[in-house]
Amino acid sequence: EKAQIGVTGLAVMGRNLARNFARHGHTVALHNRTYRRTKELVEEFGSEGTFLPAETAEQFVASLERPRRVVIMVKAGKPTDDVIEEFAPLLDEGDMLIDAGNAHFADTRRREAALRERGLHFVGTGVSGGEEGALHGPSIMPGGSAESYVSLGPLLEDIAAKVDGVPCCTHVGPDGAGHFVKMVHNGIEYADMQLIAEAYDILRRAGGHEPAEIAQIFQGWNSGRLGSYLIEITAEVLRQNDAKTGHPFVDVVLDQAEQKGTGRWTVQAALDLGVPVSGIAEAVFARALSGDPDTRAAAAGLPGPAPQAGAGGTDLQADVEQALFASKIVAYAQGFQQIQAASTEYGWDIDPGAMATIWRDGCIIRAKFLDYIKQAYDKQPGLATLLVDDYFQEAVGGAQDAWRRVVALAAQQGIAAPGFASALAYYDGLRAQRLPAALIQGQRDFFGAHTYRRVDADGSFHTLWATDDRGEVSA
Ligand code: NDP
Repeated sequence: EKAQIGVTGLAVMGRNLARNFARHGHTVALHNRTYRRTKELVEEFGSEGTFLPAETAEQFVASLERPRRVVIMVKAGKPTDDVIEEFAPLLDEGDMLIDAGNAHFADTRRREAALRERGLHFVGTGVSGGEEGALHGPSIMPGGSAESYVSLGPLLEDIAAKVDGVPCCTHVGPDGAGHFVKMVHNGIEYADMQLIAEAYDILRRAGGHEPAEIAQIFQGWNSGRLGSYLIEITAEVLRQNDAKTGHPFVDVVLDQAEQKGTGRWTVQAALDLGVPVSGIAEAVFARALSGDPDTRAAAAGLPGPAPQAGAGGTDLQADVEQALFASKIVAYAQGFQQIQAASTEYGWDIDPGAMATIWRDGCIIRAKFLDYIKQAYDKQPGLATLLVDDYFQEAVGGAQDAWRRVVALAAQQGIAAPGFASALAYYDGLRAQRLPAALIQGQRDFFGAHTYRRVDADGSFHTLWATDDRGEVSA
């Protein structure tokens, strides 16, 4: 008997993906650098399906049906290159190497091009949902050739999460498209988490609510339009009490957020593309600020107001819900714009509505809300920004008074709310009839003769700033 699919790299993610394939009736070949992990998987979970454990790469490759499908689930970076180099020489034309780790999309583009030369399909695949998702149904974002998806897609769709029978998996686009979209997914996740954290902070310090009460508030929101996995787990975390001290769990955790790097990658890529993903950037920077205790300690005595519990007034809860929803819409609009910009830049032809569809379950940002994004792109595939879609326009329009109150309150009370504030600034910047960018163009022309365009004539112009009459010339 031969295996339909093989997994190499059997740490938490690889092991659970392999079990998921097996539970769906596929015969799964197993391999790991250290054989012990392979043995353990079969000993513990062998009864869940049919596994073909292999001690060597050669045995592993020999146990796979053609075309071979080899899922690589190892540490991203050099280990992935090592594993590719180990397997590529053993494979035949038309076989597939599927990198399901968190690779940078530029690495995926490089690997795909190199392996294509060697007649192999390289499928960089985003997988979201952590270890639970890997086992019970992740959201899967495969890139690579359309041809590879014909043979690989059905297996991935089998193990993916489903919403009303629709799998949370689709062919994203060629080469690095899958890993790019996974990266932006993580960036949006950063923004979402930051906004939720700001909502909590304002409710606590300007609303005077205790964590357990805020847990109740979030639980209530979870049954409304904000309903999502992240809101749900926020309520769980806020409700938790520390066993050792009896204090709220959030009060005993060190307030320094860590990051593994995909948020930072998203912002770096956005800078290269020139797309303003301020919501994601603020979230990455807020984590960086929190994670710098030395500077925070040095600055701890700086003057500023101390928040007054109750300053938010009686409408605070409802206001914060509106601010959170509006800011979240901005963050998602920015993320989708980044995907569209990359799709144009790299010729990926990504369908943004399909991305919203496959994020509806399995992944960390799963939410009701994604249905509206899908509908927005179904209605208008060429939408310039989600903010101009009817549903979102109305939601943000309706939320904006409360949103402005919350941002003003945070500023007055001295509570840092970079996510809410910058989302609002983005919204106001985007809808402005005139921006002060005209002044910046003037400054640039003054010191660097960088030229400017006029509102009333074609072409580029330069003012002779150094001359007495400061006349204008055509550039
Ligand atoms: P790790 O990232 O901890 O990687 C451990 C695995 O990599 C082991 O199987 C290890 O083999 C193997 N490995 C490391 N270096 C090499 C090498 N040079 N050659 C061969 N094999 C090597 O495992 P995870 O399961 O946590 O994650 C796997 C991938 O999935 C990563 O890219 C991660 O970013 C991504 N991912 C993780 C998620 C998560 O929630 N953990 C979510 C989504 C994606 P050995 O046993 O011999 O040491």
